[in-house]
Amino acid sequence: MLANKKIPLIWQIGIGFVLGIAAGVIFGDKVQYVDPIGQVFLALLKMLIVPLVFSSLVVGAASIGDPRDLGRIGIKTLVLYLATTAVAIVIGLVLGNFLQPGVGLALSEGAAAFKAPEAPSIKKVILDLFPSNPIKAAADGVMLQIIIFALFLGVSAVLAGEKGKPLISFFDSMAEAMYKLTGIVMKTAPYGVFALIAVTVAQYGISVLAPFAKVILAVYAGCIIHALVVYSGLITVFVKKSPFWFFKGVQAPALTAFVTRSSAAALPVSMEAAQKNLGISEKVSSFVLPLGATINMDGTALYQGVCALFVAQAYGLPLTMGAQLNIVLTATLASIGTAGVPGAGLIMLTLVLTAVGLPLEGAALVAGIDAVLDMARTCINVVGDSCVAAVVASTEGEKL
Ligand code: ASP
Repeated sequence: MLANKKIPLIWQIGIGFVLGIAAGVIFGDKVQYVDPIGQVFLALLKMLIVPLVFSSLVVGAASIGDPRDLGRIGIKTLVLYLATTAVAIVIGLVLGNFLQPGVGLALSEGAAAFKAPEAPSIKKVILDLFPSNPIKAAADGVMLQIIIFALFLGVSAVLAGEKGKPLISFFDSMAEAMYKLTGIVMKTAPYGVFALIAVTVAQYGISVLAPFAKVILAVYAGCIIHALVVYSGLITVFVKKSPFWFFKGVQAPALTAFVTRSSAAALPVSMEAAQKNLGISEKVSSFVLPLGATINMDGTALYQGVCALFVAQAYGLPLTMGAQLNIVLTATLASIGTAGVPGAGLIMLTLVLTAVGLPLEGAALVAGIDAVLDMARTCINVVGDSCVAAVVASTEGEKL
């Protein structure tokens, strides 16, 4: 049935999602047999990332041409990314104060054994921006370095004049082929989504989730509020379009993010949706979206706000207003440094906990259910990128 050509792809993916949940509930652990299908889908998505981002960004940078235009788009993008992230944390903090998810929670025995992984220092984050070896950056998939080299190369190709033109058309042709390939990979999405969600559902029974019901509720409610208020607001005010148009357009990347728990894996799908469904130019989408997948994490930041309060409440260490403001600052910075891969937000949570003097073991409290929180936050991370891309495109005079 899923292969039926008459059912639009997004519906097929939705059906895969619902059937996956059912299979996870019904078959429990046995559903592990479908895990390879999910892993193949994930591998196919990851395969697309580097060549797609690199080629389309070289073309995008070349079509912007003037470094001043690039600077303006860059600043607009950064400001929007930071502002939406800060608002997300505030929403997380408000919900954490209101729902009190950690109050009355008995600390788990194993908490003290948790070894907090080390978060990268600010100096390392800055140094890591510069690719001393662009081929290595591409091989390792270091997104910010890839972005920076592609921008340099695109602008330089324009400056090289006639001789630079074949390079631009080579990458143009490569980007086109990569978009085609993205479309082909997405045909396997209904099966991949089915398998990924089935395995996740089978792993998390009600008994695992119940003690954390309030944290889960706070993170999911926060994500929904952020999308409905902030993204709808930005689309209405700046793009002058209905939020329905926007949310309909980003269904596929949102679902992909939800099941893969990785902004990076969802990136090719976001780029396809931005151009095909929202009508955003390659020039804007090829720059704004890869940057967003790397540095813009509204969902992650919101989750960190909720979790910091959760930990504080669970340990009976109330947070002052000043400490909560500190969380807004640290979590905004932490979300920039968070990689778009599953579970990265949990590592950065340790940075936020340290900043306000909360026990690092607190991260162990949420580690057990982190995947469930990761689904919602990654979904919002990715939708947030598309929203900012739409706003930037529209303020650059594009008709969406
Ligand atoms: N999984 C998230 C992402 O890829 C990052 C996180 O763990 O918060 O966007």
